[in-house]
Amino acid sequence: MTERAGGAGGGRDAWSGSRQGEGRLLQRLEAVLQRFPLVVKPTDETPRCPKHGVVMKLNHGKDGSTWYSHKTADGWCKGR
Ligand SMILES: [Zn+2]
Repeated sequence: MTERAGGAGGGRDAWSGSRQGEGRLLQRLEAVLQRFPLVVKPTDETPRCPKHGVVMKLNHGKDGSTWYSHKTADGWCKGR
């Protein structure tokens, strides 16, 4: 019996198999993330509403002005 008594929650023998595979996967993922740290960020060109957390749409005014907004149940929201 070589039961590793580490951390909280004993009796994890049934999990050991799948946990090892999971650990290897995470290690590979971490290695990739370290090589490409910028990949973590999704398209940062896409502005999101700080209030609702949804992607906002770019609007163009007649006078050439631009602003971002998205539609809600109450109407258009400009992120404020
Ligand atoms: Zn909003």
